[in-house]
Amino acid sequence: MHEDCLFCKIVRKDINAKEVLRDEHVVAFHDLNPQAPTHVLVIPTVHAEHLSEFAAQGNAAAADRLLSAAAEIGKQFGPNGYRVVINEGRDAGQSVFHLHAHVLAGRPLGWPPG
Ligand code: 5GP
Ligand code: ZN
Repeated sequence: MHEDCLFCKIVRKDINAKEVLRDEHVVAFHDLNPQAPTHVLVIPTVHAEHLSEFAAQGNAAAADRLLSAAAEIGKQFGPNGYRVVINEGRDAGQSVFHLHAHVLAGRPLGWPPG
């Protein structure tokens, strides 16, 4: 846990989020600034700044759950299809430095992304 991390605060319920799922490994909640009719963020309860750091730390059970939760939410909100995105670093536009997977659904999603 990181005292000042925005998403650790959501894990601790120090700040509110519109949650769709919570368990030992992950919390999922609606994005404050949605880029699609459904835009949910899935975060590990453990703090890691980036996907690469999270993976290197050997969080196998949490990594598995992050993916399965993203798929459950994608299927639930995007019966016609959904996209899972993880941004890492400046070029990818990462703005919150606690790993999160974006689950986007509810409209046709262009490819390639911007
Ligand atoms: P990134 O750009 O780092 O991949 O994504 C960060 C996401 O977090 C953005 O889509 C942004 O709208 C969302 N976000 C930032 N602050 C908050 C917040 O306090 N609550 C929620 N629910 N989403 C947030
Ligand atoms: Zn954090």
